[in-house]
Amino acid sequence: MSDKTITRFAPSPTGWIHVGNLRTALMNYLIARKAGGEFILRIDDTDPVRSKEEYVDGIKRDLDWLGLHWDRVERQSLRLEKYQEAAQQLRDMDRFYEAFETPTELDLKRKKQLNMGKPPVYDRAALTLNDAAKEALRAERGEGVWRFKLKHERIVWNDGILGDVSIDGASVSDPVLIRGDGQILYTLASVVDDTEMGVTHVVRGSDHVTNTGTQIQIMHALGGDVPTFAHHSLLTGPQGEALSKRLGVLALKDLREAGIAPQALLSLMSRLGSSDPVELRTEMSTLIDGFNISRFGSSPTKFDAEDLKPLTAHYLQTLAVTDVADHIAALGVPEVQAEQFWAVTRENITTLHDLKGWWDMFSLGADPVIDDEDREFVAQAMGLLPEGPFDAATWGTWTAAVKEATGRKGKGLFMPLRKALTGQAHGPDMSSVMPLLQVVKARG
Ligand code: GLU
Repeated sequence: MSDKTITRFAPSPTGWIHVGNLRTALMNYLIARKAGGEFILRIDDTDPVRSKEEYVDGIKRDLDWLGLHWDRVERQSLRLEKYQEAAQQLRDMDRFYEAFETPTELDLKRKKQLNMGKPPVYDRAALTLNDAAKEALRAERGEGVWRFKLKHERIVWNDGILGDVSIDGASVSDPVLIRGDGQILYTLASVVDDTEMGVTHVVRGSDHVTNTGTQIQIMHALGGDVPTFAHHSLLTGPQGEALSKRLGVLALKDLREAGIAPQALLSLMSRLGSSDPVELRTEMSTLIDGFNISRFGSSPTKFDAEDLKPLTAHYLQTLAVTDVADHIAALGVPEVQAEQFWAVTRENITTLHDLKGWWDMFSLGADPVIDDEDREFVAQAMGLLPEGPFDAATWGTWTAAVKEATGRKGKGLFMPLRKALTGQAHGPDMSSVMPLLQVVKARG
């Protein structure tokens, strides 16, 4: 195996990628970058029906948005010959056999085994078929599936997260590597690719632990180097509930559209489930330097999308107006007011989407909120409000004049005016709000 660290992120393009996929992508990315190695984006598209180009593009767009740049792309659909060669090698060494059971028959076998208190492992009945019997089954049912014949011995590896893992080969069904319709399945394709591409580290979800056991045996059979494996825990919802049903709404694309900052997502996902604290890290280099896979635990990791909001808000507060100039200009904020607008709003937004509400308020005027007991007071105050445009001194001089005229002071003076002008009881300092106000609806 080469000295160079090589990792891969290997999504199947059968849907939008979500936070669970991101955890896998990020860990593999960080390992490669920390070691000065290579990060491969491998598209696992051997399923011609479910794989869609739209999703391949989506995966690339999501990774680009996050700044997880890959060194090269590999596509399994372009490597089918390699997998056929490996399949032939397995046949030649008598580790690959054709089986003809229907799904219903297999299901029945499993039920019988479970009833007898036995583990539901495929009974290898197909191994007893002679050529004539196979021919007859083929004529009746079409091509069979191809199963890899596992050795019934212990498979052990030292897992980067789980520590020492040991799986009894006899407790696992011989995996199907090629379907009856000829489709190469992920397990075989993945072994061939990991071996040929010199992948040194494979990080994936703990739902792959059994796969890893069988893949190690296939790698041994084909004579490939076995990478270092690490299996991260699966994500659950905030209450520990399965996340799988909600993953649709946690697609990276949706988080992006909701205005979540990539820096927030990366900061959370690169540390969640580890003994390191989650804090905002705006530079990828800091994430890379501080990453250590051995600090991740094996128990399920709670994920709450709400946590992305304060991190996003915090990130936005670190930005200068120049960083968001395009966004602000797109709202129609005049260039001369951009700096003031950002200064006033940046600590009062959760995502950049919230800026529109603020600009609407400044440019169109807010619907005034006026309590009954303040009606007269506000009317009087509005009579004293100078014509615009306002400046930084307007609020001070105006409220002094209103105080003088009405005798009101403190909260009783300021709050009704704030509510009348902005429609809200909270918000930025009114002296900085005034210069941005283009329309005052409360004038009546
Ligand atoms: N395509 C597989 C998946 O998305 C890849 C698993 C692996 O990393 O080996 O689950």
